[in-house]
Amino acid sequence: MADAITTRAALLPAVGTRLRVVDLELDPPGPGEVRVRLHASGVCSDDLNAFDGSVEVPCPLVLGHEGAGVVEEVGEGIEALRVGDHVALSWAPYCGRCEECLRDLPHLCGTAWPKMLAGGLLDGTTRLRFGGATVHHYCFLSSFAERAVVPERSCVRIPKDVPFDVAALVGCAVASGVCAVWRTAGVRPGERVAVFGLGGTGLAAVVGAVAAGAADIVAVDSQEIRLERARELGATARVRWEGSPADVAAAVRDASGGGVDYAFEARGRPAAAEAALMSTRIRGAAVLCGIPRADATITLPALSIPRMERRVLGSIYGSARPDRDFPLILDLHRRGHLPLDRLISHRLPLAEADAAMDLVRSGDATRVILDLE
Ligand SMILES: [Zn+2]
Ligand SMILES: [Zn+2]
Repeated sequence: MADAITTRAALLPAVGTRLRVVDLELDPPGPGEVRVRLHASGVCSDDLNAFDGSVEVPCPLVLGHEGAGVVEEVGEGIEALRVGDHVALSWAPYCGRCEECLRDLPHLCGTAWPKMLAGGLLDGTTRLRFGGATVHHYCFLSSFAERAVVPERSCVRIPKDVPFDVAALVGCAVASGVCAVWRTAGVRPGERVAVFGLGGTGLAAVVGAVAAGAADIVAVDSQEIRLERARELGATARVRWEGSPADVAAAVRDASGGGVDYAFEARGRPAAAEAALMSTRIRGAAVLCGIPRADATITLPALSIPRMERRVLGSIYGSARPDRDFPLILDLHRRGHLPLDRLISHRLPLAEADAAMDLVRSGDATRVILDLE
């Protein structure tokens, strides 16, 4: 077997500690795996949740699940990828054989999810070490690093003229927001949409709704600066989050001619999920695509669900099919229909990964990119 190489990476030694930028040992790619020289990684609120400990992760580990780069080495049995290919990374590889894969739900693969939560690759082992000790992967990717070994099925080949920063964002926030609109909800031209929580995923939902031809797009957030960004990206009305969920829902109904067809909740806040459902019109749906705390519960006005045929839809990764949707999204971006580059508010070098986490926590950033060039 070939020797391990070293890679610079931002290591999380334990939950509640700071990130340390160090040289890790990286084993060569095994069968069905490739090594990628990463050029950009987005920093997502899910990374922050793991960093802060509100979601449990095995440590030590390397965070990061929004990456793009160039294939540098391929393992045994790889036919679809070659050294030199540019790739955007998906955190949802799949086995192709389990019940969910056979039901055409590969993003919910019953084989991959437990392996992901355990912090290994698809065979359950890791390729990362620090001082001889095992280091875990995060979401199969661990993109806060210059290099990563990832499953072949996490790689989506992209044209070589696509900027790596935009390609990286497609790997989580953009797919989660745009595809929640296109795939989970299936928004049709002329329908009315509201988006609650205008971080990276929420703003991606706004641009996805614009591209889908939504008539009304009501942006909802507690921060004025985020509402302004949503307006610049095509939201047609804005509602400041203040008062009770019922108050906010009433304001959204007022701003949308009597209620929306789809209300997307992108932050995982129970109160916003309640307001989302109450902001819908007859036969409308709340689409819950934010990740709440594991112990969170939601209270909903029960009678309106049968009486108005309201629905609640869950959405993980926007129900996306990365092989199909990443190239489509990037092509629409190139043609000027999805202004994804405008989601990027900050760029930092890998050495400042720790400061990037603080920036995401502050709420001032739309999307922070770690520049790994
Ligand atoms: Zn599967
Ligand atoms: Zn994410």
